[in-house]
Amino acid sequence: MKIHEEAFAGKPLSCEVIDAHTHIGAYTNMGWYQYKPELKEVIAVMDRCGINTIVTAPHAMVGSYYEIANKISADAIKKYPGRILAYLVFNPIFGADETKKQIEQYFGKQGFVGFKFLAGYHGTLLSDAYDYALSAADEANAPVLCHTWGGNPPISEFRKVAEKFSNLSLIMAHGGGSRKTYQECIALSKDYPNVFIEICGGLYCDWWLEDIVESADAEKIIFGTDAINLDQRYDLGRIVFADVPEKKKKMILAGNFKEIMKKTAGEKI
Ligand SMILES: [Zn+2]
Repeated sequence: MKIHEEAFAGKPLSCEVIDAHTHIGAYTNMGWYQYKPELKEVIAVMDRCGINTIVTAPHAMVGSYYEIANKISADAIKKYPGRILAYLVFNPIFGADETKKQIEQYFGKQGFVGFKFLAGYHGTLLSDAYDYALSAADEANAPVLCHTWGGNPPISEFRKVAEKFSNLSLIMAHGGGSRKTYQECIALSKDYPNVFIEICGGLYCDWWLEDIVESADAEKIIFGTDAINLDQRYDLGRIVFADVPEKKKKMILAGNFKEIMKKTAGEKI
């Protein structure tokens, strides 16, 4: 059966699926709402869809509660081994020393596979604390998923990071959210072999997945959903039912992220 046929039949997907952009834990600031935020319900949706693994950065990071967020991840990884992995989080406003403490405690251990930066919310991507974490990621060939939406932080800052760090895998979240930012992200990903584009937030984007796949190199596109803040099924469905060859769908759903993980020195999938 093809991927979309399994979905039409109401079956979980049998191909491997890794959701590389998620946030566990409830978050209600600014009117956000999540249906059934409990971890067992998150796993139930994954089972229903056939999503093998999520890589998460708990919502507590948005409010700068990064110590709580990393603890939530550590507990979730233990509770659901193989189903949940994590990105280490911190807020650069507290400086490089505070970042270093979190790195020493978690990075590359116990299911923490890389970093999630909330640049934009937490200021420029070009801060000392981010630079410190980027150096750690570069040394470990680890992935760094970084938020960008509506030009904040600007893609030009990602270019500076890509120029400086060639070993880490820099994943630009939701392609920046619009056709214009996607085009900038795609240009950057063609200039640097270690730059990738993650595709969640598709409902808000004025560009179709088919356009993105046609313009970018297929091995540079990473599946993510922003679950549980957004329904995991939106962006999964966007790939499953896309007018895109089966082979490319599998690369996007898991293959490309697995290639990234093969390079890392720390935790593996
Ligand atoms: Zn997110």
